Amino acid sequence: MRIDILTLFPAMCEAVVSESVIGRARQAGKVEINCIDIRDYTLDKHRRVDDKPYGGGMGMIMAPQPIYDCFQSLCSEIGSKPHLIYLTPQGKTLTQERVKELSKLDNIALLCGHYEGIDERVIEELQPEEISVGDYVLTGGELPALIVADAVSRMLPGVLSDDECFEEESHFNSLLEYPQYTHPSEWNGRTVPDVLLSGHHANVEKWRREKSLQRTLERRPDMLENAELTKKDREFLSNLKKE
Ligand code: SAM
Repeated sequence: MRIDILTLFPAMCEAVVSESVIGRARQAGKVEINCIDIRDYTLDKHRRVDDKPYGGGMGMIMAPQPIYDCFQSLCSEIGSKPHLIYLTPQGKTLTQERVKELSKLDNIALLCGHYEGIDERVIEELQPEEISVGDYVLTGGELPALIVADAVSRMLPGVLSDDECFEEESHFNSLLEYPQYTHPSEWNGRTVPDVLLSGHHANVEKWRREKSLQRTLERRPDMLENAELTKKDREFLSNLKKE
């Protein structure tokens, strides 16, 4: 998969995608991530990419031309139109379900706004999918774009090692993950649950499933509506609700 991040701050994005799991996946060729500088496409002789808002008001608005030309250049380079996403607090909130769907595409392009946002006409022209990372406002779309790039990349084959498997993690199956522990078995007077030290695989699995169900019920009961639950899961949950 190829992910292109269209931004005024490519170095900020490059620094993040060069590190850790995603950095290694890029080096191994499991995912291609490019950070493209929108400023390189401005036709303004002073390399300006923004201007004051019509109608007055605070801040600066990113002009349509550099964004449009940057995206067209990307389309020519790829030879087709990547799925374009504009990161905006006005978009649909990102979910693991959408992340899964996006990870099946060959190319996505992530458009980062900055300052007060971008000129509405380029949004009308390019018709991107609009994604928000939550009901709060950040200074720019770079962190949200990196969130999308990270969440999507880790779903790709070979990006996570076997022991970093995502299938039991929170949200993958509309459940929150069970609590995790590592060495030492006692720390600050707190011990690891006995079952995890028992070496009894079936009991460990049962404990994890039940903790996962319990956590989801306590913290995000709304998620249980979409979870695939067995008869045993349902009985366990209904007993919990009676307690
Ligand atoms: N004036 C805009 C509004 O009220 O909707 C907010 C602009 S914000 C200060 C600047 C840029 O940050 C946006 O264009 C967007 O790309 C990004 N951004 C801020 N908050 C975001 C969020 N919650 N999700 C996704 N992108 C966000």
